[in-house]
Amino acid sequence: MGTSVNRGVAVANASPSCVYCHGEGARRRLGTCRCVLREVFRICLEQYRYSVENGLALNRCCVTEISRGGKILTGLPHAEYVADFELAVYRALSPARRKLFDLRFAQGRTYRDCLGDLGLRRGEFFHQTYTVMELVGTECLKGLYPLDEYFGARRVVMGQLNDSAPSTLQSHRCHRPAFMPAA
Ligand SMILES: [Zn+2]
Repeated sequence: MGTSVNRGVAVANASPSCVYCHGEGARRRLGTCRCVLREVFRICLEQYRYSVENGLALNRCCVTEISRGGKILTGLPHAEYVADFELAVYRALSPARRKLFDLRFAQGRTYRDCLGDLGLRRGEFFHQTYTVMELVGTECLKGLYPLDEYFGARRVVMGQLNDSAPSTLQSHRCHRPAFMPAA
């Protein structure tokens, strides 16, 4: 696939049980290990589902965070994220693989349900599923991941709380608005 990410990103997302990279995230001459791409995909997909399922993409404007200094940060980050993730899927996948993505990942159907609709045998389905994850993961590395940077670049300072306000600015893998508790 020829993707190469920095070592920090590779190690942070590599699977310790990966038989190819043994948690190093990189393979000699092949660049970034595919387990890293699949983990990046999972993280970006989780954020996509969270933003869609909570209706955050529909909000014209929402409070996204209250910073350490008490600044209220608002914007349209979830709507932009949902659109950008869908664009990444569109760019990365052929129509046939987009159908697999829609059934398995967007609709969350079981693999048995997917087999009939896609006309695939079990082995081919799992091979194609891994390919979908790796292709979209590669595309996500071009601007969606890391999520902290993506959402950080979209913060707009809209107000200021008093100095004693507690900080809610934390490093979440999934970006939830400050007023919404983690599930
Ligand atoms: Zn690996």
